[in-house]
Amino acid sequence: MALKGLDIFKVLPKTNCKKCGSPTCMAFAMKVAQGGIELEKCPDISAEALAQLSEASAPPMKSLTIGAGEGEYKLGGETVLFRHDKTFVSKSLYAVEVCQDCVDERLPQIKTIDYERIGERMIVDLIAVEYKGDKAAFLDTVKKAQGAGRTLILEVSDADAAKEAVELVKAGKPLLNGANESNWEAFNKIATDAGVVLGVSAKDLDSLYETVQKLEGAGNKNLILDVGSASVKDAFANTVQIRRAALKDGDRSFGYPSIVNLAKLAPNDPVQQLALASIFTLKYGSIIVLSSMTYAQALPLYGLRQNIYTDPQKPMKMEPKVYPVNGADENAVCAITVDFALTYFVVNGELERSGVPVNFIVADAGGYSVLTSWAAGKFSAGLIAKFFKEADIEGKVKNRTLIIPGKVAVLKGELEENLQGWKILVGPNEAVGLVKYLKDLK
Ligand code: SF4
Repeated sequence: MALKGLDIFKVLPKTNCKKCGSPTCMAFAMKVAQGGIELEKCPDISAEALAQLSEASAPPMKSLTIGAGEGEYKLGGETVLFRHDKTFVSKSLYAVEVCQDCVDERLPQIKTIDYERIGERMIVDLIAVEYKGDKAAFLDTVKKAQGAGRTLILEVSDADAAKEAVELVKAGKPLLNGANESNWEAFNKIATDAGVVLGVSAKDLDSLYETVQKLEGAGNKNLILDVGSASVKDAFANTVQIRRAALKDGDRSFGYPSIVNLAKLAPNDPVQQLALASIFTLKYGSIIVLSSMTYAQALPLYGLRQNIYTDPQKPMKMEPKVYPVNGADENAVCAITVDFALTYFVVNGELERSGVPVNFIVADAGGYSVLTSWAAGKFSAGLIAKFFKEADIEGKVKNRTLIIPGKVAVLKGELEENLQGWKILVGPNEAVGLVKYLKDLK
């Protein structure tokens, strides 16, 4: 539960010494309660009070880490149910499931998903290795999956096979997903000995709650809750109920990230899996396991995730620079737009479709769309000229023809004054007109 300013004030030394930067202890307490400053900023607070308040002010949902090195991911730590209340903290992770029968076919497919979009690398984050009753084959599959360089999920409820698999790959900090009502003690020992996060499942929510409490009682709070695979309806209801119990009701026994296995909920139906993955990205799948991942699936899904897990107050921005399109060299015509990511993708798509080589210049315009940035004075002739100088556009491109968006045709005259030696052309009002415009220009 969130702490109130008064609760915090009660344990402060109350010397109003201002060492924390606040004028009074009460002002400091109110700031801490609002999350604006950390309690530790008061150097005079006692260790007991700090420990007591840290426990009470701990976030309602645990933050966990799985994986190691480049494959390390944060899970959980969410504080709100809706992204318009506050930015979500840990993005959903996507996993592809492999087993002894399909591992050779799926691993190469997994590696093909690797691209960058708005500064974020998009890959299959995790590989889930499924145990199918044959320990030797399972261990062999784990070794093969390990070679793909992704963090692993070990989907196994047989303690003997789990122990050996964890031993093989524990340095990579996999998620061991296999504890349930009957085997939790053995799995707790395997997971805690290896220092890995443990996935817990149960026949229903009540049993899951009880099993989590038993594990917590045994000292394990490194848990991920498996929402089950009885039906899509149950899995979704469980996922939402678990998150609401943690964040709305402050029930910390459900304050853990969740894992949902769509490969089991919608087997052999990649289209349904994709639709469900979108839903669970919104509500509230921390790890989403699919049976495959192709570009056609990845593009919309990863795009959705990027939108959901970014600050809605901050527009997504492209890096301001020259992007050569269709093999453009320094002699290709130039076209300019703003750094708002959506504008970039729409315009870039049309430029590519034209087949005409273009030096596509993305200017620093505060991340706003063309008209908004122009109205806000962030896409003016003076600022564009300044950006040309700072980014050394004239040193990079020899061509001196610049196409500007039709909606800011008003900039033409001023740009001609500010960019000496450049011929300014007014492009179409909408990006969709670029293909014809460029072909006619050619
Ligand atoms: Fe009060 Fe501590 Fe801030 Fe000093 S540093 S004003 S004692 S809260």
